[in-house]
Amino acid sequence: MRATLTVLPGDGIGPEVTAQAEKLLATVEKVFSHEFHLSTGLIGGAALDVLGTPLPDETLNLCLHSDAVLLGAVGGPKWEELPGNRRPEVGLLELRKGLGVFANLRPIRVWTELSAASPLKPGVLAGTDMVIVRELTGGLYFGVPRERRREGGELAVVDTLHYTEREMERLIRLGFAMAQDRRGKLTSVDKANVLESSRMWREVVQRIAHEFPEVQVQHMLVDSAAMQLVLNPRQFDVIVTENLFGDILSDEAATLTGSIGMLPSASLGEKGPGLYEPIHGSAPDIAGLNLANPLATLLSVAMLLRHSLKLNREAEAVEQAVMSTIRSGYRTRDLTDSEQPWIGTQEMGDKVCRFLREEV
Ligand code: NAD
Repeated sequence: MRATLTVLPGDGIGPEVTAQAEKLLATVEKVFSHEFHLSTGLIGGAALDVLGTPLPDETLNLCLHSDAVLLGAVGGPKWEELPGNRRPEVGLLELRKGLGVFANLRPIRVWTELSAASPLKPGVLAGTDMVIVRELTGGLYFGVPRERRREGGELAVVDTLHYTEREMERLIRLGFAMAQDRRGKLTSVDKANVLESSRMWREVVQRIAHEFPEVQVQHMLVDSAAMQLVLNPRQFDVIVTENLFGDILSDEAATLTGSIGMLPSASLGEKGPGLYEPIHGSAPDIAGLNLANPLATLLSVAMLLRHSLKLNREAEAVEQAVMSTIRSGYRTRDLTDSEQPWIGTQEMGDKVCRFLREEV
């Protein structure tokens, strides 16, 4: 297959981890005889430094003409004093908007070999393997009005939780499709005992459930879901939820794995390129030191191969190579205690590429 991919390294450890991803893509190309055309674009602080804007038009155009986009991370102390609309993070929000991606997929998988790095007991964690599907473009984060106002003599504030039925449907349908391809269980998280938006959400879930008779549906209130995620995480297969609840629950679930350096993500729209990125930030404290764990980015490459290029065998091979690397005892510093030996970002990238070459 021929594919056009855009890589946006960004700031901090972004360029270090995307360099490993480029190496991995070159290995996939060679091992499976594909042709990937890679372009690189500026985003975030790196783009602000050169072009004075966090998302230059050239970058967005490059992305829009690609089959998929891989991003490192944006942000850092250098740009923290800039006004809100010129912060590096704005580049990422504008990119998501420009690509029309509305669903954020976060697989949360606990690796038995790494369970010592998690704050939970290994017995609770064993077998945890879920995907959180979060709505990305609606709800409280985007609704208007959003303002402070005077009410009588008092200062008041309002945020608006707004969704259209269509926005709910497309996200929920994607959640069902994912559950159908996995273990067939969908947990829809809402706050239907209080919120009207959640009651409508629940109705939409129940209606779409008829299209997927083989998927078992469960409704769970968000407060209960927050508790169940740490009490019994292995009960979950696919969780589907709106923007705010998804934001909070996906970060809570991320702590299960022990290191933020292990977690990939994908943001998908109805058409057009998907956006793939590790969930961690630019980690300025370790940038440029060859200390970053590149596995979240390499697992994001696996998601890119699966969701945007439909290369399932290649995606599985990448995931298997990451697993073999971990099983063979290789660790970056974030995955070890002070006693254990560890390897650097580049070496970890090399190990994964080596296992991929050897195992296929
Ligand atoms: P962070 O994720 O960058 O770092 C949190 C901690 O985790 C740090 O101690 C860091 O060293 C460690 N860490 C993160 N990724 C790692 C990896 N791959 N390997 C090893 N250790 C890793 O979060 P933060 O410190 O809150 O934010 C730093 C900057 O990143 C800020 O400017 C923030 O706005 C930005 N940020 C960007 C994104 C993004 O680009 N999607 C996401 C979150 C934060």
